[in-house]
Amino acid sequence: MLTTPPLAPKTLAALHRLGIRTVAGLRQTGAVQTFLLLKASGLTLTKSTLWQLQSLLDGTPPQEMAQHEKTRLLAELKNHPPVAAFPPQGEMEYFMGLALEQAEMSALTGEIPVGAVIVSDGIVIASAHNTCIADCNVSRHAEINALAQAGSEMQNYRLDGCDIYITLEPCAMCASALMQARVKRVIYGASEPKTGAAGSIVNLFADKRLNTHTAIRGGILQEECRAVLSRFFQNKRKG
Ligand SMILES: [Zn+2]
Repeated sequence: MLTTPPLAPKTLAALHRLGIRTVAGLRQTGAVQTFLLLKASGLTLTKSTLWQLQSLLDGTPPQEMAQHEKTRLLAELKNHPPVAAFPPQGEMEYFMGLALEQAEMSALTGEIPVGAVIVSDGIVIASAHNTCIADCNVSRHAEINALAQAGSEMQNYRLDGCDIYITLEPCAMCASALMQARVKRVIYGASEPKTGAAGSIVNLFADKRLNTHTAIRGGILQEECRAVLSRFFQNKRKG
């Protein structure tokens, strides 16, 4: 069990909120990612907390940590992709359900069924689906349509603090647009092994050279999200 001491009571409470209660749990997330998650949850931390977390994993006191180990941790911190505390599972599944309804609407019009909703402070500000065929426009993916809608709604193309729920892992075009819009969190359902740009083919969100601020989480209602696509392609083959 993680305890106070050595951890500060506030740090320990925040770790519990993140579901990290044991050294094994800490090891699974890693010292650097845990440190970033604590920061994302609103704690003000100094590097000493990072040394402390790593020391718990090493089983040695922080004051005995070698300088090269600290340098390694700082480099890992600098290169780590953005992290965020994500909403509770039930909330993510609720909004993904709405994105799935959008995907079903795509299918009804013969478009590849992908849906997206954008949420700001718990309120849906955009719901869209793929309309490439109807619009004769290759860029009309669900995400791009949702970004356009949300931009008009907010009267701002920058969507700081907004989240997007997408039934399918975004492609490189959409990943780039999402990062440029500064969407805070991207939550997607099924992975896309042929064009996915959130880890399947490339992970643009993890490339620090792009100055990304967007955290990603996949696998929410992935079976349902995958099923909409397989049903669509099966029907297409039958038809
Ligand atoms: Zn796309």
